[in-house]
Amino acid sequence: MTVSFPDLDMLIEEVEVLRADRLSPSFVRFELGTPAFAELGGDGPYFDQRIKLVFPHEDGPVPSFEGADDSWWETWVERPEEERGHMRTYTIRDVVGSGEDTRLVVDIVLHGDDDGDHDGEAGPGSAWAAQAKVGDRLVTMAPRRGYEYGGIEFAPGDATRVLLVGDETALPAIAGILRDLPGDAVGTALCEVPLSADVQELPAPAGVEVVWLPREGAALGSLVHAAAVERLGAAPVEISVSDDEVDPDLWETPRYSSSGEEVVEEPAHTDDLYVWIAGESKVVTGLRRVLVNDLGLDRRQVAFMGYWRVGVSMAS
Ligand SMILES: Cc1cc2nc3c(=O)[nH]c(=O)nc-3n(C[C@H](O)[C@H](O)[C@H](O)COP(=O)(O)OP(=O)(O)OC[C@H]3O[C@@H](n4cnc5c(N)ncnc54)[C@H](O)[C@@H]3O)c2cc1C
Repeated sequence: MTVSFPDLDMLIEEVEVLRADRLSPSFVRFELGTPAFAELGGDGPYFDQRIKLVFPHEDGPVPSFEGADDSWWETWVERPEEERGHMRTYTIRDVVGSGEDTRLVVDIVLHGDDDGDHDGEAGPGSAWAAQAKVGDRLVTMAPRRGYEYGGIEFAPGDATRVLLVGDETALPAIAGILRDLPGDAVGTALCEVPLSADVQELPAPAGVEVVWLPREGAALGSLVHAAAVERLGAAPVEISVSDDEVDPDLWETPRYSSSGEEVVEEPAHTDDLYVWIAGESKVVTGLRRVLVNDLGLDRRQVAFMGYWRVGVSMAS
């Protein structure tokens, strides 16, 4: 059954897994479908468009949003976890097909004890992705064409160069940005991934260099930090960020500040460089120190986004 809420400004849809492909050791690619995706879309390119996926609890049904209205969040969050499942944030990796055969493509990172890279528990999102098969069902929250949805942070304004920096969770967003950049765009994408086998073919404008940084056991964020610092011309200093200084929900963009910094609603770019950084929150915090404290980059030129945090469940 497809559940659809025509009055809501987004699509909250029960969807079916139409394809599930293990891309590489750390990534599974899903194509998700419902006839309601005939209405999927925004006003323009997707870039780093974020969405929500709601995974069923292992002992529960596909979460129901029956009767959802503007207060769907309050109604959902009050339910027992077995009923409401687990909501997590992901990125539109692509949209393929058309009309009622429109498919939402999402790449999910596998993590946890058996991923060969990190210790720790696989969260519900990763655990679902590791075993999901064609015909399984879950719920998506995604933009409905013709309605304001938000969730695109990439905003280079009139910058003439871009620097994209991310780990594996940011790879779908970096891929989307590279796909949607104008053909004459110039810049660099630094992509840290767990293993060499996770390197993907990423179509990008000829003027944008895509640099792969497989950790192969190196410390999380160490490669991307060093590469970003080098590209920006800062001194290669060791940055020490203590755990209690890290906000798991770090989100510092020209339009929003999770730390309460003043947000100046001006489109101005004082430099020709725009920097977009997403990944593990402590790694992003370390890069923010270099960019803001050492290099004095204007906050309107940079977006710093904590996509996940070691040891913290990003439960919604
Ligand atoms: C805007 C945005 C877009 C995102 N896009 C994507 C995307 O397209 N694909 C994608 O896979 N992720 C994406 N993420 C990251 C994803 O939401 C988090 O990794 C989330 O924690 C996964 O949920 P989970 O249920 O697997 O783990 P959780 O229940 O949140 O966490 C459980 C444990 O797993 C650990 N953990 C979580 N993620 C990772 C990881 N990547 N590597 C190692 N350990 C981890 C946590 O530290 C915690 O200890 C995005 C996040 C944001 C904010």
